[in-house]
Amino acid sequence: MQLQNAIAASIPFSTALILTLVAGDFASTFFYHVPQHLWFTLHLRTHHDRRRPYFDHAVLSTDPAVLLDGFLGAAPYLAVAALLWRLSWPGALAGLVLGQLHVWWRHTSELGWHTPARVRSLLRPVGIVLPEDHDGHHRNPDIEFGDIFRFYDAPARALLARLARTSRRARNAGRRATRRASARA
Ligand SMILES: [Zn+2]
Ligand SMILES: [Zn+2]
Repeated sequence: MQLQNAIAASIPFSTALILTLVAGDFASTFFYHVPQHLWFTLHLRTHHDRRRPYFDHAVLSTDPAVLLDGFLGAAPYLAVAALLWRLSWPGALAGLVLGQLHVWWRHTSELGWHTPARVRSLLRPVGIVLPEDHDGHHRNPDIEFGDIFRFYDAPARALLARLARTSRRARNAGRRATRRASARA
C-alpha cells in the first residue's frame, strides 16, 4: 500500500519533468531553432560561430548576443514549465535543471568527452541526444536537430526542406544569381 502511494505521488512529478523536456524541446526546435536556421541570423552568428570553440559560446560566453540566443532557445522550456507548475512545481523545476545540465553535457565533445558504450546503449532507445550527436549539428548545421531528443531531427529536417525556398539562404543565392546575370549582361 505504501509503495502504491509512493508511486501514485510520484506521477505528477515525473509527468511534469518529462513534459517539460519533451514539449519544451518540441517548442524550442520548431518555434525557435528551425526558424532561426531558415530565416534569421542570431543563432547562426552566435551558436554556429566557427571562429570560436562552441563550448565557449554554448556554456562560457557572456556576450549579450550569445546570451540572447540562449535565452530565446530556453524560453519555450520555461513556458512549458510554467504551464506545468501547478501540476508539480518540483517536477517542472527538475525538468529545467536536467535540461540545463544537458546543454552543458551535449557540448563536451569538444573537450574530448566520449560517451561510454553502456551509457550510449541506455540512452539510444529513448532517443536522447548524445554529445557526439550534437557535435554533428555544429559540424554540419543542416543535420542533428532536437536539443534533447533525436526524434525531432527527422521532422525538423522535413520542415526545413519544405520551407527551403523561403529561406534566407535561398534569397541570398537568388540575389547572387541576379547579380551575376546582370554583370554578364
Ligand atoms: Zn550547440
Ligand atoms: Zn543550430
